[in-house]
Amino acid sequence: MSLTLASSRILTMDQGLTEYEKGWVRIEGETITALGQGTPPEGGDVVDMGGDLLMPGMVNSHCHMTMTLFRGLGEDVDDRLFRYVLPLERECVTPRTVAIGSRLAALEMIRAGVTTVADMYYFETEVGRVIDESGMRGVVGQTLADFSAPDHKSFDEGFALTEELAEMFAGHPRVTASIAPHAPYSTDIPVMRRVAEWSDAHPDVPVQLHMAEMVSENEWAQKNHGMRPVQVVDKAGLLKPGLVAAHCLFVTDEDMDRMAEQDVRVAHNARSNAKAGRSIAPVEAMRKRGIPVGIATDGPMSGNTLDLFSQFGPVSMFQKLLGQSRKPMPAVDVIRMATLEAARVLGMDGKIGSLEPGKQADLIRIRLDDPRVLPVYDVYATLVFAAMPSDVRDVMVAGRWLMRDREVLSLEAPKVIADALQVAGEFNARIEEIDRRKA
Ligand SMILES: [Zn+2]
Repeated sequence: MSLTLASSRILTMDQGLTEYEKGWVRIEGETITALGQGTPPEGGDVVDMGGDLLMPGMVNSHCHMTMTLFRGLGEDVDDRLFRYVLPLERECVTPRTVAIGSRLAALEMIRAGVTTVADMYYFETEVGRVIDESGMRGVVGQTLADFSAPDHKSFDEGFALTEELAEMFAGHPRVTASIAPHAPYSTDIPVMRRVAEWSDAHPDVPVQLHMAEMVSENEWAQKNHGMRPVQVVDKAGLLKPGLVAAHCLFVTDEDMDRMAEQDVRVAHNARSNAKAGRSIAPVEAMRKRGIPVGIATDGPMSGNTLDLFSQFGPVSMFQKLLGQSRKPMPAVDVIRMATLEAARVLGMDGKIGSLEPGKQADLIRIRLDDPRVLPVYDVYATLVFAAMPSDVRDVMVAGRWLMRDREVLSLEAPKVIADALQVAGEFNARIEEIDRRKA
């Protein structure tokens, strides 16, 4: 079955940033087979894109999908983590709530043109199932941590869950299992070393980790090991090719040189980092060294939304503020970091991230006719500073439409929302109980 998407402005986001003004994309099954300009080749179905923009689906390189259920909770409560979140996670995070929260996240991301997500949380087999049913593509990471996690009481149990996850999604065309030691301070060297060894034996299972995220983490690393967090990860043997390190705020020149040497990749969470008052990741300095950096939302409790449009402004502006100039982080680089470069972060750039023959047909259609975005002088700048998730019109993953004209076809939106609101009601009852007890 072949399908041609015709009459569109195409940003391929390939290495050479090829663009087509009146372009077409030909898709056979799940794969892009050809692209071009002008009159498309005959045969198969042709869908007119009405001059809208076509570009690769966006890649959210770090997320905690289930945490949609915690979105906006206790925003101004200084100890919200210990007061609400950890007790709620311990008592209320179950396979049922994970599936419900992840479904809301998938619905939100599809509506925002995110086609691939890297997740790390608990009960990840449920997250993987939801990603599968939603038609999205995803990397699902089983978290390992020494604080009371809702799905494992010991690291042995955590590793057993990872094995189960890896078995369940082995060979799946869109869902990749991953192992996710939470952070250096919540696992420490022996566990990170065990993860490194496990990962050597399972090269198809990527490793995700929060790294160099907090001042308290620097203090922990100094006090316990007399070094910086990146050096602790390195000592454990986990600073290895393919590692997806989220945050990387507190990295020195020496750390970045070593990360580049070891082919470590970074998931950059500008909004979440800023909301917590943490710091600004030295994205320009990392990219100059050849470290791929992908844009990410972090969990919706820390960053609120899971679309990449709301990240673009902060990603760009923070680097300009650091450089005290308009020059750093040009808009085209921001879009690269949401597409091909983010795919590289997840080790999937051979398959997705750009519109090229042989790659998966993961693409989105964006209308650029709202007064807010007009006129369009530089389409990349328009996407970064003016476009919004609601401008995304159609979404396709692996040749299958997940959304047409803003209607999500792969999930039952009213049910997804009703289920999430029901769980929020249950959480609220528990929150009131906590507040009563603490009053
Ligand atoms: Zn995170």
